[in-house]
Amino acid sequence: MHVDSTRTLLLNQGYEPIKIISWQRAITLLTLRKVDVVEEYDAQIRATSMIIQVPAVVRLRSAYRRHAKPVKFSRVNIYARDGYRCQYCGVRCTIDGLTYDHVIPRSRGGRTNWENIVSCCYTCNAHKANRTPAEARMTLLATPTRPNWMPSVQIRVSTKSVPDAWRDYVYWTGEIENDEGGGAM
Ligand SMILES: [Zn+2]
Repeated sequence: MHVDSTRTLLLNQGYEPIKIISWQRAITLLTLRKVDVVEEYDAQIRATSMIIQVPAVVRLRSAYRRHAKPVKFSRVNIYARDGYRCQYCGVRCTIDGLTYDHVIPRSRGGRTNWENIVSCCYTCNAHKANRTPAEARMTLLATPTRPNWMPSVQIRVSTKSVPDAWRDYVYWTGEIENDEGGGAM
C-alpha cells in the first residue's frame, strides 16, 4: 500500500459516508478530537514519538453541517439550484442545452444575482428576448432565490477502487462527496 496516497472514508454520526479525505486530514481531525477511528489499515505511520495505524474509516463526533459555506454565485450553481430545468418550459437539459436568463432584462435595470437569474433553454431564451415574463406571457416555475444549500460534487466510487475497510459503509449509498478542493468543515 502506498501510504502517501491512502484515503480515509469520513462518516457522519449516523455511520453514513460523507466524504473521502486524505489520511493526513484524518489524523488532523483525530488530533483535534473531531473524529473517532472506526476502521484501520494495516499500514502504520510514524508521527513524532509514536506510531499510528493509518485510519481507514473515521466517524465525526459532532453533527456534520453540510451547508456551512454560502453558495457561490455561478452559472453552474444556478443550474444546480434549478435542477437543470428551464424555469419557463420546464424542460430538463444538460449544461450544453442551458443558458441563463435575466428575469427582468438588464436593459430594464435587472440585476445579475440569485433573485433575477434563472436557468433557461435556448428556445425560451430566444422567445423571451428583451421582455419581462409578463410581457412575453411566460411564467416562471418558481421564484428564484439564493439557495441555502451547498451543491455537492458527487462521485461514484467504483467497487474495484473501494478499500476493503470501507465496504461495510459505502455499500449503503454508493455515492459520496469528494473532498478535493476543500470541504465544508
Ligand atoms: Zn424552455
